[in-house]
Amino acid sequence: MVIISESKKAAYRGYSKTQFRYGMTYVVITFVIMLILNIYCSKTCQQLFYESKKASLVEKCLLASTEMSTLDVLNTTAVTGIVNQMDSLKVTRLVVTDQSGNALYDSSGSDAGTYTLFPEILAAIQGNDACSWNYHDGVIDARAATPIVYYGTVVGCVYMTEYDTVQGGLIQSMQNNVLRITLLLEIIVILFSLLFSANFSRRLNKIMTSMRIIQEGDYTHKVDMGGNDELTILGNEFNDLTERLKTSEEKRSRFVSDASHELKTPLASIKLLADSILQYDMDLETVREFVGDIGDEAERLNRMTAKLLSLTRAEGRSSEESEIIYMAPTVQRVARMLRQNALQSDITFQLDLEHDCPVLILEDDLYQVVFNLMENGIKYNTPGGTLTVRLGREEDNAILEVSDTGMGIPEDAIDHIFERFYRVDKARSRATGGSGLGLSIVRTIVQRNRGEIQFSSILGKGSTFTVTFPVFDTEVDKA
Ligand code: ADP
Repeated sequence: MVIISESKKAAYRGYSKTQFRYGMTYVVITFVIMLILNIYCSKTCQQLFYESKKASLVEKCLLASTEMSTLDVLNTTAVTGIVNQMDSLKVTRLVVTDQSGNALYDSSGSDAGTYTLFPEILAAIQGNDACSWNYHDGVIDARAATPIVYYGTVVGCVYMTEYDTVQGGLIQSMQNNVLRITLLLEIIVILFSLLFSANFSRRLNKIMTSMRIIQEGDYTHKVDMGGNDELTILGNEFNDLTERLKTSEEKRSRFVSDASHELKTPLASIKLLADSILQYDMDLETVREFVGDIGDEAERLNRMTAKLLSLTRAEGRSSEESEIIYMAPTVQRVARMLRQNALQSDITFQLDLEHDCPVLILEDDLYQVVFNLMENGIKYNTPGGTLTVRLGREEDNAILEVSDTGMGIPEDAIDHIFERFYRVDKARSRATGGSGLGLSIVRTIVQRNRGEIQFSSILGKGSTFTVTFPVFDTEVDKA
């Protein structure tokens, strides 16, 4: 059963808030866009209707004022006569005024009076054509006035109004339709954003559940996201990460069990030897011998823990901590350190070193590589044998070759000798103080420093280990 902590629950609540926020953002954005489009469509449509209405109403006014301008005297009788002849005007209201704005004729039947309060009439008796309009509740209310000019003088004006419910109705039904479409689209957007966020949250939930399962330690679990989008990539990355976690967890537990197994052997020997001293009556000579053995085992433990430490350090170190090191002096230093061992085992050194081999590495690491390879060349050599170390350059690489004339490596061991704690001949390795960690350390360091390691071996004749590092070109690499 997966237990979710309070802090995680709070995080998930925050996550559903995020989902809600995303959904709402979509809805609000589309709503605002629709509203703007709505207003724009309705205004443009009203403007189009107005322009056509204005043209026809002003034209009617002009027609009437042209007829009126033929009159010698502009009075109610003359104007009424002309208006009666023009029965095709079809306007809601027609008013004819003199130059002061006094109504000479009004089709609405109102008493004659002063209409100068109408801005269109005011504009017209000042000699201008005027038109205005407004739209409300499905009605276009348009008003226009034009001056009556008699021999270059404004003698009055014609004022017309028109209430158009047909075109007004068209505008209204268009506005209603656009509103309906907007609402429908908004509902579709809400449905889609609900669907999308539900699907998104379902897939995110999958990843979060998998994370919890992995946290519980089940590294075999895989998340299957399906689809072909960023979440699918996230799922694949997550699976890769889990796979790497699984491998490193396996390596770690194998390492711990191997290490404890290796450390257990000398500890068991120490305990056995100590118990023997305590339990049996022994002469001083035997006790000395046993204590000597205890010392040897303790020394072996010491060497092993030191190597384990080196290996852990080599694995944890990054190649960025490196410095420029000339390889030849390090090889000579190792040779000096091992000269005594070589003498004891009757091995002869042959060094053939090119001095111009700078590489980017920590000196301690290079020392470890050379030391382990040369120490093995002595340990697994035969008395009277030779250990040859060659250092040279080939193109952009520095090549270090360590060859011995020893026992060689059997074929079935070839794939394993770089594994931790692997030893071909346990007894011999134990006798020579081997831990099975030397070559692991070498390979880890070489790989961490962009190098390569290879070996060849002939059983009974000897082995050659070859390490290649890229040469640090002082001109190019420093630039
Ligand atoms: P060890 O501490 O036991 O020497 P290494 O990791 O250095 O551990 O080597 C692993 C095993 O590989 C050794 O136990 C040995 O059997 C074999 N080996 C390493 N170097 C040589 C060599 N030059 N000649 C023959 N066998 C070797």
